[in-house]
Amino acid sequence: MLLRENTPLLPYNTFGLEAQAAHFIEIQSVAELNQALQSGIRPVFILGGGSNILLTQDMPGLVVRNRIRGISVVRRFKNRVWVRVGGGEVWHDFVQWAVSQDFGGVENMSLIPGSVGAAPVQNIGAYGVELKDVFVNLEAVDLATGRARQFSRPACHFGYRDSFFKREGKGRYCITSVTFSLSTRQHRLNTSYGDIHKTLENMGVQHPTLAAISEAVIRIRSSKLPDPAVIGNCGSFFKNPETDRAVLERIQKTHPNAPHYPLPDGRVKIPAGWLIEQCGWKGKRVGNTGSYEKQALVLVNYGGATGQEVKALALAIIESVEKSFGVRLEAEVNMI
Ligand SMILES: Cc1cc2nc3c(=O)[nH]c(=O)nc-3n(C[C@H](O)[C@H](O)[C@H](O)COP(=O)(O)OP(=O)(O)OC[C@H]3O[C@@H](n4cnc5c(N)ncnc54)[C@H](O)[C@@H]3O)c2cc1C
Repeated sequence: MLLRENTPLLPYNTFGLEAQAAHFIEIQSVAELNQALQSGIRPVFILGGGSNILLTQDMPGLVVRNRIRGISVVRRFKNRVWVRVGGGEVWHDFVQWAVSQDFGGVENMSLIPGSVGAAPVQNIGAYGVELKDVFVNLEAVDLATGRARQFSRPACHFGYRDSFFKREGKGRYCITSVTFSLSTRQHRLNTSYGDIHKTLENMGVQHPTLAAISEAVIRIRSSKLPDPAVIGNCGSFFKNPETDRAVLERIQKTHPNAPHYPLPDGRVKIPAGWLIEQCGWKGKRVGNTGSYEKQALVLVNYGGATGQEVKALALAIIESVEKSFGVRLEAEVNMI
């Protein structure tokens, strides 16, 4: 375990932004995390794959990169298993492992970047499935006391791209492992969302398997989202706003075909990408940053952008959408 000073964070964030950590350490175990905490360096920032952060300045204190690994089946039931996964495992590696074991539940979340430990923070989701659907519990270390604590599903307060760890618990814990409940037979396949069904047809698949669904999701995502290795980004920059129906009805007066999805509580979700596109931002470049040509919701770094530049663009987009539609977009990405 090596504590480094003034470490460039460029290799550790998918936006490809320059910033430095005053102190930086990689931990492979809970014991190493506790050792790092004993250094007394504060504040502590837990870093996973850096795929959901916008670094707008250098990081003071200690940046801890979570590399706690390990995947193990901890309980077996008739039709399910509980699998405990180290918080430092790469999310997609875990998904591929699950698919290779014929364990179902996470295949629709293939290719989401980042670590397993960060997945509960914003209750990651894609193609009709969210982390909370397969979540059992998690282990976390309290950064103030060094004590381990288990969080049940209710304690995590999961919501749409939201949890306790983005609110009251923000910056207070390091999630060291997550336990998932996965099906071992009679899988509940979810092929109705987005283009999955069509892609499976194009692949010639008549009887979908977990592996086929995972492959279909990988194909769709690869065709729509920019690869951070090629062009810096953090995926969707904004959440899709959830509004009262009255807001939608007002928008429909000028945009009768406004896309929307009903929510169980009677409200509606309006795609943020559509709102941004209507305001003329899609594919628009501002300096070294811009809104991605194929998906307005994704802000990109064309090379050499600063975090402040991206933040300024995000604020300009928020302002223009609010002015045009009376809807205030909320960032999904954590601005640091
Ligand atoms: C191309 C692309 C596509 C994406 N698509 C999706 C998608 O479909 N669905 C989706 O939900 N997200 C998506 N994202 C966002 C991102 O993949 C997720 O938010 C992911 O969970 C972030 O993981 P990370 O390890 O990179 O977190 P980081 O960016 O390292 O950290 C994000 C936040 O979590 C905190 N954190 C990280 N690890 C821990 C830990 N172990 N304990 C406590 N706090 C921690 C950090 O302090 C920070 O506040 C996408 C991103 C990209 C770049």
